[in-house]
Amino acid sequence: MRATIRAGLLVLACACPAGVHAGDCLAEASLPPTAQQGALVMGSAAPGTVYEYLGHTSVVGDDGVIVFGLARDAPERVELALRCADGTRGALALDVARREYQIERIEGLPEKTVNPPPEIAERIAREQAEVSKARTRDDARSDFRMRFAWPVRARVSGVYGSQRVLNGTPKDPHLGLDLAAPEGTPVHAPAAGVVTLAQTDYYLTGGTVILDHGHGVSSAFIHLSAVSVRPGQLLAQGDVLGAVGKTGRATGPHLHWGLNWFETRLDPELLLK
Ligand SMILES: [Zn+2]
Repeated sequence: MRATIRAGLLVLACACPAGVHAGDCLAEASLPPTAQQGALVMGSAAPGTVYEYLGHTSVVGDDGVIVFGLARDAPERVELALRCADGTRGALALDVARREYQIERIEGLPEKTVNPPPEIAERIAREQAEVSKARTRDDARSDFRMRFAWPVRARVSGVYGSQRVLNGTPKDPHLGLDLAAPEGTPVHAPAAGVVTLAQTDYYLTGGTVILDHGHGVSSAFIHLSAVSVRPGQLLAQGDVLGAVGKTGRATGPHLHWGLNWFETRLDPELLLK
């Protein structure tokens, strides 16, 4: 196998039919030079190019867009595996900028564990499986390319990546954006998409809507007091999908907006900047 390196691009092999130049599709493929942890990353490549990241294999559509997401703690350099239509394989590398997340240490809390009874644990698992299933969809739509808008114009009360450490025990990081608005405030689609899940009464997340923006990119809106859409419905940017609430496990009325690339949780706030 012959390997050549061109500006972050590694060409590994070519089994080229006559007339096809080795790595033409690789030479066309590009990513931004750097992206932050938690970011939705967009690059470009020739239609038909296959790319793989974190075990997800996707095919570049006619729009020529590569899209994937970086986790909260993504390593400082990640690589996409590429395969051209002519069989040439290569890789694209991306430097990942580290972020400092808010860490809140709380000591001296009375020790108590919240272990839901078995029937509740079962219900939670069932609901989480439904959410996971809604996020496996890989549509050719690329609604995520439009500029995202705020679903609710409100004060940010919780940011992506923040983490509480209670009595020395780190809790799960907060992987979304909290917007504090009064109960009943309309929630608008931040970008176009198709509704893939609409539930009014999940145990942890209460009123829950998932909006699919294409190619595995989806938004989740939780703790809603009202859900006004149904699965399969196409929404334009700005359409109302429900109302702010405090359903499920929430201490006060707010919208929790989550952004995913398949199961990887991203920071929606980065799309608003
Ligand atoms: Zn939240």
